[in-house]
Amino acid sequence: MHHVVVVGGGIAGLTAGWELARRARRQHHDVEVTVIEARGRCGGKVVTRRRGDFVLEGGPDAFVARKPALYELACELGLEGRLLPSNDDRGGVALAAGKRLVPLSPGLLQLAPGGWREIAATPLLSWSGKLRWWAERWQPARRAETDESVADFVRRRCGREVLERIAEPILASLHVGDVERMSLAATCPHLRDREQRRGRLGGGRPAP
Ligand SMILES: Cc1cc2nc3c(=O)[nH]c(=O)nc-3n(C[C@H](O)[C@H](O)[C@H](O)COP(=O)(O)OP(=O)(O)OC[C@H]3O[C@@H](n4cnc5c(N)ncnc54)[C@H](O)[C@@H]3O)c2cc1C
Repeated sequence: MHHVVVVGGGIAGLTAGWELARRARRQHHDVEVTVIEARGRCGGKVVTRRRGDFVLEGGPDAFVARKPALYELACELGLEGRLLPSNDDRGGVALAAGKRLVPLSPGLLQLAPGGWREIAATPLLSWSGKLRWWAERWQPARRAETDESVADFVRRRCGREVLERIAEPILASLHVGDVERMSLAATCPHLRDREQRRGRLGGGRPAP
């Protein structure tokens, strides 16, 4: 009999505990799993409060369907019927530039601009930053199997301005972390895959 202790009852710790117990059951291993949480409640950053008819999310309120793991977990836990689709008519991401909010086109948001016009149209970058991003298509793909940080990846492919003015504001807030220390493989595997498959991020239709 093995006893595994998972420290931290946020979504990562709870998922690790669930996965360990599930695999142990399937493979007929005798494993006991204990999740230890320092606070009085599990969930970590996931905090949901209800006030009257309103549901208030103190932390995450959505996940991207592009990465299927969380959707699969929700189905496994019998929560599929409680998932709400996003309202795409009202969707969109905008970044603050001075006192203005600048909407990001889907191509820029995914770091995969369809062409020069899409890059040229954004007021978020200087002309040299735009040209550097346009040149992304000619940057050689990294062949090393080892991981790198999100910051290193974006700087290498798209240039420093794209990192500082577009990628970092989005990814650092989404993952609540430092892009210089954030693993590309863990947080943006689709970007690495796109580089490996196509040799570039932009230049074609953005990935769905
Ligand atoms: C405002 C906000 C909005 C967000 N929106 C989204 C979103 O829409 N979609 C999305 O995918 N992500 C979103 N995120 C990111 C997401 O919430 C986090 O990435 C995720 O919840 C982190 O989970 P975790 O289990 O790794 O860490 P945490 O949720 O931080 O959990 C760690 C847990 O470990 C416990 N702990 C720490 N040390 C110890 C110890 N020594 N002993 C025992 N217990 C310990 C802590 O008390 C905590 O409960 C958002 C984050 C924030 C803050």
